[in-house]
Amino acid sequence: MNTILLGAPGVGKGTQAQLLSERDGFVQLSTGDVLRTEIANGSELGKTAKGYMDRGELVPDTLILNLVALRLDRSKSYLLDGFPRTVAQADGLTKLLSDRDMKVDVVLSLELPVEEIVKRLSARRVAIKSGRVYNLIFNPPKKDNICDVSGEPLIQRSDDQPEAIRVRLKEYENKTEPLKNYYDQRIGIQIIDADGDMETVYRRVKAALA
Ligand code: AMP
Repeated sequence: MNTILLGAPGVGKGTQAQLLSERDGFVQLSTGDVLRTEIANGSELGKTAKGYMDRGELVPDTLILNLVALRLDRSKSYLLDGFPRTVAQADGLTKLLSDRDMKVDVVLSLELPVEEIVKRLSARRVAIKSGRVYNLIFNPPKKDNICDVSGEPLIQRSDDQPEAIRVRLKEYENKTEPLKNYYDQRIGIQIIDADGDMETVYRRVKAALA
């Protein structure tokens, strides 16, 4: 079963994807995580993507689709987190999946009021190597600023600064939000209330997937 997690930046897609992969065996494919790994590795692709990401803009569709194509042969089903983000990516995904006799089966949209999103993004900290996401208010690490799993120091993403947050929310509204209609017409989407702690939202997500 291929599942897409839609939703604005900061609604908790990454956190829910992490829980579903740890507890339920979903194979998470997060384009944001892949891009951050490329940047950490100093690859050419990472260098190209970094400028867009730091400004809060979307990375060009062709680059994203190439990157996803390279990773689609590892499993029979995926939990897609942060992808697709544009109609062109959604069309590209349909093609990539149908070439492999697969399709999108479920689309969930996590939704949260914008003030709550800004609050969450400002308090977010990440561990690059382990890919884990923390929130200083809702889901802090056991030791201050240290990843529970890898022991590496946590960082604040450069795109979690106020100006980049503003651009990302605009990008979401203009380019990604239309995907709700796109998928609703093709597959049907389920709206998940993302307000609440991560266990509460996880229960809602699981209920939608049941
Ligand atoms: P995320 O970790 O999903 O919030 O993504 C962080 C940043 O990576 C975004 O603000 C974009 O600059 C870039 N990015 C991640 N996924 C995509 C995508 N599917 N399409 C375009 N840009 C993306």
